[in-house]
Amino acid sequence: MFRSHTCGELRLSDVGNVISLSGWVARIRLMGSMAFVDLRDRYGITQLSFHEGINSDMLVKASDLGREFVIQVTGIVAERTSKNSQIATGDIEIVVQSLMVLNRSKTPPFIIENDTDGGDDIRMQYRYLDLRRGIVRGNLELRHKLAQKIRNYLSNAQFLEVETPVLIKSTPEGARDFVVPSRLNPGHWYALPQSPQTFKQLLMVSGFDKYFQIVKCFRDEDLRADRQPEFTQIDCEMSFVEREDILQTFEGLVSHLFSEIKGIHFDVFPRMTYAEAMSNYGCDKPDIRFDMRFVALKSPGEDIDVVGGKGFAVFDSAESVIGICAKGAGNYSRKQLDTLTEFVKRPQIGANGLVWCRIEADGSAKSSVDKFYDSDALMQWERLFRADAGDLILLMAGELNKTRKQLNELRLYMGSELGLRDPFNYKPLWVIDFPLLEADSENNCWHAMHHPFTSPLPEDLSLMESFPGDVRANAYDMVINGVEVGGGSIRIFERDLQSRMFDLLGFSKEDAQSQFGFLMNAFEYGAPPHGGIALGFDRLCSLFGGSESIRDYIAFPKNNNGRDVMIDAPSPIDETQRKELGLS
Ligand code: ASP
Repeated sequence: MFRSHTCGELRLSDVGNVISLSGWVARIRLMGSMAFVDLRDRYGITQLSFHEGINSDMLVKASDLGREFVIQVTGIVAERTSKNSQIATGDIEIVVQSLMVLNRSKTPPFIIENDTDGGDDIRMQYRYLDLRRGIVRGNLELRHKLAQKIRNYLSNAQFLEVETPVLIKSTPEGARDFVVPSRLNPGHWYALPQSPQTFKQLLMVSGFDKYFQIVKCFRDEDLRADRQPEFTQIDCEMSFVEREDILQTFEGLVSHLFSEIKGIHFDVFPRMTYAEAMSNYGCDKPDIRFDMRFVALKSPGEDIDVVGGKGFAVFDSAESVIGICAKGAGNYSRKQLDTLTEFVKRPQIGANGLVWCRIEADGSAKSSVDKFYDSDALMQWERLFRADAGDLILLMAGELNKTRKQLNELRLYMGSELGLRDPFNYKPLWVIDFPLLEADSENNCWHAMHHPFTSPLPEDLSLMESFPGDVRANAYDMVINGVEVGGGSIRIFERDLQSRMFDLLGFSKEDAQSQFGFLMNAFEYGAPPHGGIALGFDRLCSLFGGSESIRDYIAFPKNNNGRDVMIDAPSPIDETQRKELGLS
């Protein structure tokens, strides 16, 4: 028997018992006449003790140990004289009576503790060692717990988990496909699913009614910090539902997870239309942990202009002038204000500049454009922004959509600066009524904003051909703390409408038939009304863990270049394999 207990489980009540443990040597402290070894396994750490005169023969053995050796010990549980309240087993230690080295270890390339000296690259290369660190293990435990609760919740709600294939034909989710050559069908390729979208819709045609799957999806995109080429979705679909049914079901799921895992209870999630999100926050996934909404001083849509005609050319020539009010930031120094200007001028943001106006203690205002705007004008700004003494108004000007985007960045930056983005303060929300289509001005065509299977809002159907850009989709995103946790839509389920949609997207009848004929044909055999959603599981895990990075919650993630540096993938394949696949 390798062990009677794990390294996380012994307590004072076990004192006097003979037990055995197996695990990894985490730390060794040799002090001449005595030694202490921390033994680690998945469950925790237990201190082993060695003393001259008590277990002298073992003391000799302990001095031969190295970090990360795998050992097995038998000994007696004893109360510690100096207790460690930091760990669960901190009241006891094991007076070792026998010790066996099960396997030796090279000195690990970094310290295997929460506080490690290993940089990202080395930890990725030795991910199996990184995974020994409690903090990383904890992340995977959280992931497991979430997966289990999701499965239970959905199963209890009559959802059926169905696996869909991985070797398929392209699914359009807006990214490039990863493709796999078929040896048996030379010149033909499978695509890896960007999502199981078409399959889950086919399952609805089959009558499965409520489907879910915790499933790997693959998208060949340019990688950003928070993206992985393969990631996991909680993919769901339901029949005989309207948007409201879906929102309630998945709000229910996410609320359940927060209440079970974090003890946090939510009221109903607020809803915001895409148009509101864009005009108040300049982005479709607003972080509503803090207010700081946009206020327009000049806006083409809102028919307002309180800044024009004062001789300030920047505002006069701008399509829009919008700003935010940073509460309590009125004491920003010249240097801090310059830093903000530099921030918005960075190429990633690309603004030309920033106008500030601070409200002094006596309510008077001081701005960077005092030359053009007198105190009456500034008072008007103050009123429009509902600014109080000690606040800072920040204004940006330019083309409306671009300026909104830039101001969104500044708003998030100020939110962080002012400590308003506590990762453990969760603020969920639904964003609804997205546009159906997105204009691609370069190629002079339309793209589906969500995907081509998303249904337009019924009241906008008549605009499809005349004003396609104005058609709203019956689509929704779940957003938590500025992170898009998931999205979905009510689907098109009639062949004719689906075919009108493909027309709009510029597919020829032949292309539509050859790529999606299987789905449109299925719609002719009694497709029920249906809709669904997919939640990003890795993101959800990182959100629960309070971390920005999804990588920390994936056992074996890829790096920023899409590489697995541990197994060295992707890698070339040999000539024979290429020939077999008809690739050379
Ligand atoms: N398949 C969609 C996606 O991956 C989600 C959905 O519409 O259900 O974003």
